[in-house]
Amino acid sequence: MNVLFLAHTEKDGSLGKAAAEALGAAKGLGGELIVGLFGAEVQRAADAVAGCGAAKFYGVAGTDFADARYASDAAAAEAIAKAAGADIIVAPSTSRMSRVAAGVGMRLGAKVDTRLTGLEAVGDKVVGTRWFYRQRLLGKIERDARPWLVTVDSGCFNAVQAPGSASVELLSVAPATRSEVVEIIAPAADAQTIRPDAKLLLVAGAGWGKSQADGQKHVDEAARLILGLLSATQASLGSSKSLVDQSGEGAALPFLTHMHQVGQTGATPRHPKGLATCCHGEEPHVVGWRFIGERRAINLDANCGWAQGKADVLYVADAFAVMSKLVDLLK
Ligand SMILES: Cc1cc2nc3c(=O)[nH]c(=O)nc-3n(C[C@H](O)[C@H](O)[C@H](O)COP(=O)(O)OP(=O)(O)OC[C@H]3O[C@@H](n4cnc5c(N)ncnc54)[C@H](O)[C@@H]3O)c2cc1C
Repeated sequence: MNVLFLAHTEKDGSLGKAAAEALGAAKGLGGELIVGLFGAEVQRAADAVAGCGAAKFYGVAGTDFADARYASDAAAAEAIAKAAGADIIVAPSTSRMSRVAAGVGMRLGAKVDTRLTGLEAVGDKVVGTRWFYRQRLLGKIERDARPWLVTVDSGCFNAVQAPGSASVELLSVAPATRSEVVEIIAPAADAQTIRPDAKLLLVAGAGWGKSQADGQKHVDEAARLILGLLSATQASLGSSKSLVDQSGEGAALPFLTHMHQVGQTGATPRHPKGLATCCHGEEPHVVGWRFIGERRAINLDANCGWAQGKADVLYVADAFAVMSKLVDLLK
């Protein structure tokens, strides 16, 4: 079995975390491993994993492949996959790879499965694991069809680090495209509060927008404390549905969007630790916490959902006071 690990490099020429994890998934299959990389530059990324055990390194490099663009990315991925002649192609579920996966699969006559959370060789079969129906059903996938192109989710496999000096065979690809990447407009790093690689998830619940002991709402103070903790810890921000719904109506915290919502109808982030604040811990919210390692919550109510076995530690306390003290301590 030939296994191709296929990924793009990052803007600075490095190999991203999700890509290094996808290489871990490919390596775990145990077949003959081939590495394929594309981007403005590929040597630095290839060197970072030179000792991974790959029999061969292919690359497509040049300014044409610097930025995510369907035509050039698909052409590069197709050329590498054809040169490698692999049975299984393993790529990271980055937005850049996800955008071209189906098209590349079509060009190769490959079957495609996306966002696998597990991948293993069982006897002579390859078995992938994937969530369905918003993380409520876990499915196992086997396919006889080859090539089989899979993308794997970040946070599920051990990243490969094996620095050395790789000998890369560069393939010549001339992408046929009329599209030109003129500029990338992205929010400033500080404005981006969803941080999938953060060690801590901070969840804000509707309590932050409710009347407090003095009968008043303290939304400005809530915003200051939440942003203060995020800036001190670089944690990722999540929210309950109730609070994002209020924010959407302009009544609560302006930096929250529906993208922040964690839960059954929201996201299922993966972080080693989570801290829920002013959030009741109801089941439709807590199902989104299934991949959070250690859970803590701050709530005024000793009978809230977190106290019903959903958190490892519940602080029965005023989150305004606790967060204020925390931000001071972290300064
Ligand atoms: C089909 C379905 C899907 C759903 N999907 C989702 C989903 O994806 N995500 C989601 O979040 N919800 C979801 N819900 C809604 C969910 O059931 C809850 O209504 C919601 O999570 C409640 O949000 P909350 O805990 O922030 O608000 P509340 O239930 O209003 O809780 C606010 C909490 O703040 C506490 N509080 C107030 N002031 C303070 C203070 N000063 N210090 C400490 N604590 C304080 C209160 O004690 C209270 O427990 C779904 C519901 C359904 C029916």
